[in-house]
Formats: sequence, C-alpha cells, structure tokens
Amino acid sequence: MKVVLIERDPEDSRVIQFMLESRKETVFPFANATQAWNFIESNSDIDVIITALSTEGISGLEVCWNARVLADQRKGLYVIAMSESDDAELLVEALDTGADDFLQKPLHEETLHARMRVAERMIMLQKQLVQLATRDPMTDLYNRRAFFEQANKLVQQARMSPNICAIMFDIDHFKAVNDTYGHDVGDEVIKAVARLASREDGILARLGGEEFVLLTHNHSLLEASRMADRLRKEIAATEVKLNKSSVTITSSFGVALYREGETIDDLLKRADLALYKSKNDGRNRVSAERPRMAQSA
Ligand code: GH3
Ligand code: MG
Ligand code: MG
Repeated sequence: MKVVLIERDPEDSRVIQFMLESRKETVFPFANATQAWNFIESNSDIDVIITALSTEGISGLEVCWNARVLADQRKGLYVIAMSESDDAELLVEALDTGADDFLQKPLHEETLHARMRVAERMIMLQKQLVQLATRDPMTDLYNRRAFFEQANKLVQQARMSPNICAIMFDIDHFKAVNDTYGHDVGDEVIKAVARLASREDGILARLGGEEFVLLTHNHSLLEASRMADRLRKEIAATEVKLNKSSVTITSSFGVALYREGETIDDLLKRADLALYKSKNDGRNRVSAERPRMAQSA
C-alpha cells in the first residue's frame, strides 16, 4: 500500500517508516502536514494516511477532516491518527473528525502491523463495494449510474472545449440470438461486444440489455463516427465461438455531438435518435445526427 506519514519528529518518523517498510509498504514521510496534504491531493493512489495530531502546518485533526471529505470522492482512503496522549476525549475527537483508527505513541511494531492489516481489509472491502455499485457484473463495464457520474464529470472538466461525442450502439436482432442459441450464448455475445468496445478510447458503459454507449473526448463528430464505423466492422467480423460452430452478429450505431449547456441525457437522446435511424435504414450501420455525416456498410 502507499502510505503518507505525517510526523514532525525526525527520529519518530524514521522509526515508523522503518516499521512500515518491514511490511513492504511504500512510505512518503512528511514533517509538514500542509505539504503532505498537497501531496495527497495530487496523488490519487494513496491508500493510508498516518498522521500525528500535533503537526507543523495544518493540524492533524484538519488532515483527518480533509481526508474524510476526499474519501467520499475517492473511496478506500484510510486514516490513522496518532498521539502521545491517552486522553479519551482526544481519541473521540480524532475518530469523530474522520480518523478510522487511533494509535498511541510510541508505536509498537506488532500493533502497527495489525492495524495495517485492518486498513488493508477495509480498503479491499471499500473497493469491492465501489466495484459492485459502479460496474455491470457481466461485462465489467460502467453501469448506467456510474456512466452518468463519469460523463457529468467530463462535461464539467471540459467546459472550455467540450468536443464530446456520444456513440450509442445496440446489437441487431439480438432476440433472435437468444431464441436460436439460448440465453448463455446471448451472454457470450454481449461480453464479446463489450471486449471489442473496451479497446476504444472513452467512457464506456452498458446501458442495459444489449445496448452500450461510448463517450469520446477530443474527437469531432466525424472522427467519432469513423471510430464507431471501425468498431461496427470489428463486431461484424468477430466470430463468437460455440461448441461446434460460431455465431456472428452486427450492431447499429448512433453518434451525436455534445452541445454547450445541454445535459448528458439530452445528448444521449440525440444519439439514440441517430441509432434509431440506423435501425430503420437496415441496421449494421452508423448514423450521425447530421444527415451529411451518415455512413453505411
Ligand atoms: P433490434 O435489432 O431492433 O435491436 O432487435 P433486438 O432483437 O436486438 O432487440 P429487442 O429489444 O427486441 O431484444 C433485446 C433482447 O435482449 C431481449 C432481451 O431478452 C435480451 N436481453 C437483455 N438483456 C440480456 C442479457 O443480459 N443476456 C441475454 N442473453 N439477453 C438479454
Ligand atoms: Mg438490439
Ligand atoms: Mg436494445
């Protein structure tokens, strides 16, 4: 795990770092809590913060509080406060402020290691919960809710130069695949399409059933349409292997360009209209929202 250690006493810091490194943790030691906090904010892969309560810069309690706020967005950030005091009020305050655990100094190696094992278990559980809440279990793609969360984040970040396109696609005559080969084969087909689409650059989600969306950034409508057409060809050329035979399928695509100020829902509605056009025009094709962009097999 990656551990930020905030301790102003150089000797204490060195000893704790040594104990942590004997457990193969990667330690980033800081004497100053403000500097540590700047580091934590710009490094999203930090797992654990171990902070003294009396620190240089911002206070240890402030670190606990900030970390709690940050953990709401990041998940899996575990905070251990430490102090020389065995004051019960301080312990309660640290935990209430956002620490997950409290250690009294001087630390004992065995105890620290046991607490790090707890941290590891908690972080793993958090990650599993995030996985369950944001991913479609069959394809491991984002689910609908997580897609909207990620898409809204992208729109906010990209406010100055949106150039965001939604590519919606849906497997053609998928009901017939289920009816002919069975539901299990249908599932394999969905997984195969998800795998092919995962190779493209963008925010990819399974919106439901056999319908997907890929949100691209920094591509014009034309470029996104070309990307969709490449994926369309790849899907059509892929054989999903069965016991003794194989099945091939096609998909239809609809592409729309984000317009300043609209919601992701608005964008998807327009991509869906384009997709509907592809279905109506005979399937296995890409339609962009403007007629002159329409491409076909
Ligand atoms: P179209 O070309 O117009 O898209 O026709 P379609 O048959 O693909 O579309 P329709 O919406 O009629 O059928 C979609 C089918 O997908 C119906 C549903 O039973 C099936 N389906 C939805 N989710 C799953 C899934 O997770 N696994 C499997 N095997 N089938 C699914
Ligand atoms: Mg379909
Ligand atoms: Mg469908």
